[in-house]
Amino acid sequence: MIELPDVERMIDGFAGYATGKTISHVLIDDPEAVDVDPEAAEEHLESFAIDAVERHGRYIVLRFRSGYSLVFHMGEQGEIYLESQTAPPPPNSKIRLQFAAGRELRYASPGDKGEVHLVEGHDFAGLETLENLGIDPLSDDLTAERFIELAAAHPRSSLKGMLMNQEIIAGIGNEYADEICFQAGYRPDARVGDMTEHQLSRVHKYLKRVLRRATLHWEAAHADPGWLINHRADGAPCPRCRNELESMTLIGRKTYICPRCQRAA
Ligand SMILES: [Zn+2]
Repeated sequence: MIELPDVERMIDGFAGYATGKTISHVLIDDPEAVDVDPEAAEEHLESFAIDAVERHGRYIVLRFRSGYSLVFHMGEQGEIYLESQTAPPPPNSKIRLQFAAGRELRYASPGDKGEVHLVEGHDFAGLETLENLGIDPLSDDLTAERFIELAAAHPRSSLKGMLMNQEIIAGIGNEYADEICFQAGYRPDARVGDMTEHQLSRVHKYLKRVLRRATLHWEAAHADPGWLINHRADGAPCPRCRNELESMTLIGRKTYICPRCQRAA
């Protein structure tokens, strides 16, 4: 599943090259998944430069000098990356944005998943999920105080449910939610209304720590034997106490916990 650190890593891979460069051609490979008609692409994207690459939660937004933006929903396994125009496109290619110099920005996503929208300016009003996105977990606005307020507003939510609710906090998915709960030492099914401010502050601290590390040092985090994310399997030993990890279904997602290291509240 694509989560905030993965989106940041993807952006790192192409933003430096693409920002400021002009798109010469737009190739739409999957009109079902790409809500952009070819005439609009010609009028608002072709021969315009990409002004900025932004992340909104788990969405990637390319802002064009024409005043239009392309919004990419990354889905579960969507990917945006640079490739040579001479390399054959992958079977699940949705759209390709070509630069004059011979490279192209590709957006691929398995199956029907993933969507692309063209919007005027920063008007995300028509895109319900983007319009209702909650606070960005890496922004300075998400202080411990703000996190405690959000928890107080959703007392019946489970801790994991709150972390993954995109309308409360935008960008955390299944695996990082489990990691944050594990690192903080609380069960993901703890009710936030039962947690003290001190406990919520601790969750907030590890939320920042986990996401910053995974964003800045993705490879190291994904090789760290102390991280739950690298041991997600039934019966695998807990990276901290070596007790067997357990799994359960929470908000419809497979959730891993160490019953010894994680407390209810
Ligand atoms: Zn443990």
